[in-house]
Amino acid sequence: MPKAVIIGAGIGGLTAGIALRQNGWEIAIFERAPVLSEVGAGITLWTNAVKVLQKLDVWKSMEPDSSVIGRSEIRTWLGKLLLATDFSSLNKKLGAPTVGIHRADLQSKLADALGREPIHLGSTCAGYSQDATSATAKFADGKEERGDLLIGADGIKSAIRTQMLGDEPLRFAGYTAWRGVGLIDRPEVPLGVTLIAMGRGSQVGMLPIGRGRTYWFATANVPAGESDPPEGHKPPLLKRFGDWWPAIPAAIEATPETGIIRNDIFDRKPVRNWTDGRVTLLGDAAHPTTPNLGQGACQAIESAFVLAKCLKSIAEVPSALLAYQDARFERTAMITNRSWTFGKMFAYENRLKCWARNTAFRLFGGLTVKSTEKLIGYEA
Ligand SMILES: Cc1cc2nc3c(=O)[nH]c(=O)nc-3n(C[C@H](O)[C@H](O)[C@H](O)COP(=O)(O)OP(=O)(O)OC[C@H]3O[C@@H](n4cnc5c(N)ncnc54)[C@H](O)[C@@H]3O)c2cc1C
Repeated sequence: MPKAVIIGAGIGGLTAGIALRQNGWEIAIFERAPVLSEVGAGITLWTNAVKVLQKLDVWKSMEPDSSVIGRSEIRTWLGKLLLATDFSSLNKKLGAPTVGIHRADLQSKLADALGREPIHLGSTCAGYSQDATSATAKFADGKEERGDLLIGADGIKSAIRTQMLGDEPLRFAGYTAWRGVGLIDRPEVPLGVTLIAMGRGSQVGMLPIGRGRTYWFATANVPAGESDPPEGHKPPLLKRFGDWWPAIPAAIEATPETGIIRNDIFDRKPVRNWTDGRVTLLGDAAHPTTPNLGQGACQAIESAFVLAKCLKSIAEVPSALLAYQDARFERTAMITNRSWTFGKMFAYENRLKCWARNTAFRLFGGLTVKSTEKLIGYEA
């Protein structure tokens, strides 16, 4: 049985493990974290990713932890409605839903589907070597693991990528993001609706993520590396967003401080090559993107599925990896670039530009809906 060594038990690494094992591969996954814990917050899992999870027969187990998106709204920071989209009919038309889900629930259900046995926690990969017939992962504690194939699914700061492509710095998007999850029961907060509110130099989004929880995110244009004061995230957030549409400060107020995280947002310009012989990259390690289209994890899931398909149809591993990379470049590069452009638009500070953006959403929002439909109607 051929063996795949996977670095990283995030969404991409676990999905690749499931897809490859279904095609007869032995799997060994190595994860730096000592436990698979509640890392991250909510994410949108669009139809394109849900369809892959359905094909892999793992969707049913995670469905009860998610919340189907029925309607989405784009508003101004004061709450004026610019665009409403009926997702129920889009979900029906495309044959699978778009949902909100907690990243930790998704990760844990993927790990359950794979079985915990092949997942080796507390293992930090430091690099790799290879020869004509095998690839070997090298770990910080001196251990090694050899396979027919090595997949670097070790995230945006991938050690495998650094060795393969060099230590090029990440591209800072110009803004930071707070993410919060809570059981938010406030009359101001509309339940079951996904929304984005756009201000000057800031945006806030909100969506249900199952089991009564609401997830929200908020961005602000600030230099990289700033952090919140020791009192916590809520005081600066309420100072910044306190006078927004009442749903927004209400959601922030109702979220426990421990349910809020903050990260500066980075990506990398798309590269055409992320394969070296028997070693390849997957997910954020290969095609990190800003979160403005909510597609990072979805693309990791698609890539995992396509990688397994290529390894099934092409016997020679290096050729299969090149076919996988070629199959994935155009779509992932388009998403990274489009997401970057949307991020810049959401970050406008100039009054006139903000007015033009809001007017464009109000008048031509239907075009955005059409392009979203095309993006998420894709079948990997
Ligand atoms: C604010 C924000 C909002 C987002 N919203 C969405 C959304 O709505 N929808 C969506 O699809 N995506 C979203 N994303 C993106 C999504 O979170 C990522 O694209 C996705 O998690 C990438 O999965 P991955 O498996 O490639 O990497 P990761 O999830 O980063 O997993 C990598 C794993 O590798 C491990 N690791 C790292 N280095 C090593 C090492 N040296 N050795 C061993 N293990 C290692 C890490 O511990 C981690 O478990 C968002 C991201 C952000 C920042």
